[in-house]
Amino acid sequence: MTSIRAFRVVVTGLVQGVGFRPFIDRLARELGLRGYVRNIGGGEVELWIEGPEGSLDEFLVSLIYDKPPPAIIEHVFIEEEDSRGYEDFRIESSGESKYARSNIPPDLATCDHCLHEVLDPHNRRYMYPFNSCAWCGPRFSMMYRIPYDRENTAMRKYKLCSECEEEYRDPLNTRRYHAQGISCPRDGPVLGLFNKDFERVECKDPILEAAKLIDEGYIVGVKGIGGYHIAALATNDDVVLELRRRKKRPTKPFAVMGLDTNVLKRLVYMSYEDELLLRSPQAPILLLPKRPDSPVSRYVSPGLAYEGVFIAYTPLHYILLLNTRDKFLIMTSGNVSGEPMCKDEDCARRKLSKIVDFFLVHDREIVNRVDDSVVRRTGGDYVIIRRSRGYAPTWITLMFDLNGEYIAFGADIGNSGGVGFDNRVVLTQYIGDLDSLAAQEDLLRYLEFLVKNYHIGESTKPIVVVDKHPRLYSKTLGVFYAKRNNLDYVEVQHHYAHVLSATIDLEISGRVVGLAIDGVGWGDDNTIWGGEVLVVDTEKYGYSRIGSIRQLPITSDRDTYIPLRILSSYLTMRDFEWSEIEKTLKAIKTPPSRIPEAHAAHSLVVRRGFTPASSTGRLLDMIMAIIDPAAERTYEGEPAVRLETLGVRGESAVSIDAYRIVSEAGILRLDYSGLVDWVLENKLKLDPYTMARSFLYSLGLALGELIASSVRGLRVDEVVLSGGAAVNELIYRGLCERLSQEGFKPKLPRRVPPGDGGLALGQIVAADLLKREQKI
Ligand SMILES: [Zn+2]
Ligand SMILES: [Zn+2]
Repeated sequence: MTSIRAFRVVVTGLVQGVGFRPFIDRLARELGLRGYVRNIGGGEVELWIEGPEGSLDEFLVSLIYDKPPPAIIEHVFIEEEDSRGYEDFRIESSGESKYARSNIPPDLATCDHCLHEVLDPHNRRYMYPFNSCAWCGPRFSMMYRIPYDRENTAMRKYKLCSECEEEYRDPLNTRRYHAQGISCPRDGPVLGLFNKDFERVECKDPILEAAKLIDEGYIVGVKGIGGYHIAALATNDDVVLELRRRKKRPTKPFAVMGLDTNVLKRLVYMSYEDELLLRSPQAPILLLPKRPDSPVSRYVSPGLAYEGVFIAYTPLHYILLLNTRDKFLIMTSGNVSGEPMCKDEDCARRKLSKIVDFFLVHDREIVNRVDDSVVRRTGGDYVIIRRSRGYAPTWITLMFDLNGEYIAFGADIGNSGGVGFDNRVVLTQYIGDLDSLAAQEDLLRYLEFLVKNYHIGESTKPIVVVDKHPRLYSKTLGVFYAKRNNLDYVEVQHHYAHVLSATIDLEISGRVVGLAIDGVGWGDDNTIWGGEVLVVDTEKYGYSRIGSIRQLPITSDRDTYIPLRILSSYLTMRDFEWSEIEKTLKAIKTPPSRIPEAHAAHSLVVRRGFTPASSTGRLLDMIMAIIDPAAERTYEGEPAVRLETLGVRGESAVSIDAYRIVSEAGILRLDYSGLVDWVLENKLKLDPYTMARSFLYSLGLALGELIASSVRGLRVDEVVLSGGAAVNELIYRGLCERLSQEGFKPKLPRRVPPGDGGLALGQIVAADLLKREQKI
């Protein structure tokens, strides 16, 4: 007779809200095992199994290999126990005991099975816009709290009908047994069509009617799972321009949603790998190269080489697109310029009525705003530009335990905050730019969501972490939060946090050299930094700044909006007289109307009214101003994005070696004046594509040279890249080319964005190093 043994097993990872308990239940029953499975507070899964030894072994193997598709198993703790003589196996209600803390499930794109049901005329969920199962559907966006049980979500107001109830209770129903979010046409959320004043439009089928209206050229607000989108024809220039006018968004690209990847293949070039990513449970917006014969209006992403595309990731979007003529639409965030996307009817009524003609709205509450995630490629690998739906708030596991608990506020552009505890860092979803009050409120709100659900501060006093910049909203908010809650706060230098974030994301330990290239970060010498070579040590707080790019003068905020001002200031700092600057500006065909702006900046520099900035972002802006003196910034990073686009379209690059590495006040500086002069001299000789390509590639080589010179004689094993400019394809190629000669392959972070959206990770780890050294 085989012996009966018993195990208590705790599984951590992404195991709640992904059909894990029902899977365990089915597996145990199949193998004739007894015991229970339950979610435990904080969100892990605990199970008790007892039975014959052979079956237990089989169970433990299947646990890992046959898990539901969206589940991620990080750790399995197994303890042998004495058999308790359970009679059967069951799913128990969630426990209150706090064993450990676990992942909050992110929103998951519709799975193929659910889509199949929606398209099956004989299925009772035929054309049902809210179909979901244990493997797919909204999660975080509709959760009030953890654990993920129906009564903790916005689905609690929809009582299951008898058929759904039966599916929910049937252990043989793989995808609906104990699936918390399920519903059907009889009991689920209800859709309605409204005019822009939110008066109901009577019609037989709101989705079909909305599709018809969109085909006729109307602009329709669509309530999705994480917020409102604005849907409009992508093929009609007039519609696209009207949307731009109403949204006050002259050039910022709109994302395009396609029915599926086959539809998108007519718009963009797509590899098999891209297709898998687009169809993954995360289903991000992916920036892919446009096809020359793409039917999409050129005003959708004017002047750019890439289209941001994603697939219909809910049945609602799928049915809507299926009934349109084109099968793809503009699907852009439902917000007013500079503010967060609307997630409720009140916001939509107040803010979107001026933009849309109609609203397609369902009656399920969106609890947490979740924007679409954005992914691009740099150097052939995917980089997350915006980490939100599908990714957030999945935690990041560290290779070490933190020495305390932390609440980090990130920085102001494309903000995400985060909390740190145990060996985890949990970043909020994408909050956005913090210059609107609504975004600032969201940052506090979503940090507090994490604080509450992860019990931050219940056993130890957390430390608040902010950026050093005295004028950032994120800093003001963090300091306010710390004072209100009687907590200590620490300031972490921006680029140090960037480099640490990339290092930790890549699971590198030891001494690392990092290049942080971005727009504006507050430096420890009270100047602005943004082109920095730092050496950091993952075992020790602090960094040494060993290299930087030469400074340019920043005279006011207007410089970021009108890049020509930077060119004028820069030439002034190089001792050019105004008459020479004016001559140069005329030579590069500056519109006469722009000359006064350039002169104003010049005068400020002459009167020493500027802050020196080693900002790569402003350098790129300035180069764009030479190529197009009328260039303006209407969205974050626009000149740099346009410059990269020109460069990517260029066919050949001249390797410009007119740069120098100079020693200045104890660090090495990249003097790029020769590169700037080259662009000025070739403005009338070369096409903009070749110029942009040559400049960016050569800047990459030059930055590689700066790193190589700076680390000479130092012991470093790895080079990491961070900052918004680090994803630039051509700079990256130049860097790789030069650094390969030194035996380095520079690496970009993979799990968090290299921009400010990943900053909180570095802030938390920096604060932890300080704490470990007992400096706080
Ligand atoms: Zn499904
Ligand atoms: Zn039902």
